[in-house]
Amino acid sequence: APALTLSAVVRTYRQGEATLSILRGADLTLWPGQSVALVAPSGAGKSTLLHVAGLLEKPDGGEVYVGNAPTAAMGDPERTALRRTAIGFVYQAHHLLPEFTALENVVLPQMIAGLTKREAGERGTELLSFLGLGQRTGHRPAELSGGEQQRVAIARAVANAPGMLLADEPTGNLDPRTADHVFATLTSLIRATGLAALIATHNMDLAARMDRRVTLQDGLVVELD
Ligand code: ADP
Ligand code: ADP
Repeated sequence: APALTLSAVVRTYRQGEATLSILRGADLTLWPGQSVALVAPSGAGKSTLLHVAGLLEKPDGGEVYVGNAPTAAMGDPERTALRRTAIGFVYQAHHLLPEFTALENVVLPQMIAGLTKREAGERGTELLSFLGLGQRTGHRPAELSGGEQQRVAIARAVANAPGMLLADEPTGNLDPRTADHVFATLTSLIRATGLAALIATHNMDLAARMDRRVTLQDGLVVELD
């Protein structure tokens, strides 16, 4: 089954008197283990698409299925609960909690989800090691490089083993070499876990290395290549 399906999704914003139709019937299917690059100019609606896919915004029309579950008729508590377990988010800025260590940042969402401190610690340590941060678990964000901070943010995003990862310019703040390394780590994680990933990026070199590329044209998702 797909990890996520957008079916005829419509999203409009009111700006004063005007109505902006950002998504006009967008369709997209994300499969487990597949990384999809979302490449489109600023203002095309990439963030809007990610927010609707991530159940942060409700579509004005159409349906968003997480696995086989339709979400449009769900209430906010149900959407929030599903978002916390089924979807991981990574942004351009790491948004780590500054007074906590790398490991604590990864442990926290798991404890909120009901794991014991010990279970969460074991999974967090394993994840950080997989991402090449085995020697950095006790460091606070300010003591880590930009690439390391972003790898901790990736570990946190997948700490609760979501089926899907949504990322908005995850390497946008990094120099090219660091971006390359963080991206390679991210793709090996996607392969190892069978995550479905939708990653908005302006970096065409990185997009070329993903399984699939899509863009937004007149509010629709269009496959590239
Ligand atoms: P991208 O991520 O591709 O740059 P966005 O999805 O952020 O595009 O925005 C697409 C368009 O929708 C832009 O014109 C933006 O100004 C508008 N927009 C986004 N969010 C809102 C909002 N909350 N209210 C009004 N307009 C919005
Ligand atoms: P919290 O537990 O802080 O109340 P939520 O339940 O609102 O967080 O959100 C769950 C996830 O969605 C978190 O990973 C959070 O970072 C992300 N999130 C919430 N609101 C937004 C937003 N407006 N834009 C981007 N991400 C958000």
